[in-house]
Amino acid sequence: PVYHQAKFINSSPHLKDTPDDQGLEIAFAGRSNAGKSSAINTLTRQNSLARISKTPGRTQMLNFFAITEQQRFVDLPGYGYAKVPDAVKKQWHALMETYLSQRKSLCAIVLVMDIRHPLTEFDWQMINWCHHSGLPLHILLSKADKLTYGAAKNTLLAVQKQLKEIPVPITLQLFSSLKKTGVDEVHQALDLFFSF
Ligand code: GDP
Repeated sequence: PVYHQAKFINSSPHLKDTPDDQGLEIAFAGRSNAGKSSAINTLTRQNSLARISKTPGRTQMLNFFAITEQQRFVDLPGYGYAKVPDAVKKQWHALMETYLSQRKSLCAIVLVMDIRHPLTEFDWQMINWCHHSGLPLHILLSKADKLTYGAAKNTLLAVQKQLKEIPVPITLQLFSSLKKTGVDEVHQALDLFFSF
């Protein structure tokens, strides 16, 4: 599909009021500040798209975007705020668990990790969810421009090694919204997920 034709559909704090659970959906997950919004904007060439997900009140919601009539992106609520009250954390868990276990159209997860802080506790949670549900996972090591190419490659290999034992298909790549590197590679991964 043509990713720059993406359009905002709606935001929802629960599985009610979401677009019909049909067609195919790819969910974007990531620790807050990992570069997820920038990645969605870069991939769709639309600066305003993921800004919607950052609107106060919508940060803890599922934000849906139409790529085509039958293909969607979902921006999952960012996690990892240091000072979030336990009640909000519980809510986040409940929403994620419900969404990930019940959404039939969900066909893959894209996990965005800051290349300088890969595999946080929350990333592992996401990876384990994919493991348990059998969902394919594509990982973006974002802000790759923050490291030299050599250091970035080393991180890629180190992360790859740590994920070797997980028995679900996991692909990973370097990505930079700032330098627009890795965009074609992500599009290819998305194309593949949408073609299943
Ligand atoms: P989110 O909370 O995961 O949606 O993260 P954002 O996309 O809002 O990015 C968090 C911060 O990292 C912002 O200050 C961005 O400008 C910065 N950032 C995002 N992507 C990149 C990148 O590819 N390179 C660099 N150098 N900074 C980035």
